[in-house]
Amino acid sequence: MIEPVARALQVAMVDVGGTLWPNSWPLRETDGAGRVHRVAAAMPAIDPAVVEALVADLTRSSRHIDPAWEAVSPDSGTLVATCLERQGLPRDQQTVMLIRRAMAVPVFDRLKPLPGAPELLAAIHDLGMRTVITSNTYWRDAESYWDDFRLLGMAEHIDEVVTSVDAGRLKPHPAVFELAMQRAGVPAERCAVIGNSEVNDVEPALKLGMLAILVHPDDPRPESSRAHAIAPDLWACAEALRTMLQSS
Ligand SMILES: [Mg+2]
Repeated sequence: MIEPVARALQVAMVDVGGTLWPNSWPLRETDGAGRVHRVAAAMPAIDPAVVEALVADLTRSSRHIDPAWEAVSPDSGTLVATCLERQGLPRDQQTVMLIRRAMAVPVFDRLKPLPGAPELLAAIHDLGMRTVITSNTYWRDAESYWDDFRLLGMAEHIDEVVTSVDAGRLKPHPAVFELAMQRAGVPAERCAVIGNSEVNDVEPALKLGMLAILVHPDDPRPESSRAHAIAPDLWACAEALRTMLQSS
C-alpha cells in the first residue's frame, strides 16, 4: 500500500497508445506507397528505385518489433542508419532523422482519440496543471507527434512532448520520464503519470516517486495495480486527478 505524500501536483505525464488513442490502429494497403512517397520527398536527389529498396528494407527490418512495446526493441535510429548504409546512402544524423520522420505515417485520418481524451487534456489545464506527453514510439519523435496532435485537434492542451525516440530509451526505462521532468522543470513529487500499462507507466512512476493513475479505456479491467487510482475511462481519470490535486 502506497501512502499519499503531501505535494502540490503541477504536471500530468500522459501516455498515448491505449490512453489517449487506441492501442493499435488499422494498417493499410497504401501504407507502403505512402512511405515511399514520404521518403522520396525527404531525399529528392536519390534514384526512385533506391528509395523503394530502402523503404522495403526498413519495413522488413522493423517488422519483428513488439507492438505492445513491453519489450526492449532495437532503436529506430540505428535501424535507419543500417538500412541507409546497405543502400550505399549517407547515414549522417540529419538524414537518419529525416528518414525516421518520413517512416512515421500520419495517424489523423485513420484513428479517433479514445472517448474523453480531449476532455481529459482540457481538464488538466482547467486544474492549473501542465500536460507532458510521455510515449513509447518507434518512428515518431516529438515533432512527428506534434503534427499528429495538431491534425487531430488535440494540440491546444498539450505543453510538451517526449517520446522514447527523443529520450533514447523505451519505457519502463526512466529516461522518458526524466527528460519530461527536465522539460517541465519540476521534480518527481510534482508529477502524476497517466497511462494504461502497469509495467511501462505505473511502475516507473512509483520508482521515481510520482503519483500514478492506471487507465483502461481500451484494455480489460486490471486484476490488480499498484497505482494510486484506477480509472475505467478518461472522465473518471480527470476526476481522480482532481481528487489527487485537492488532497495534495
Ligand atoms: Mg500505452
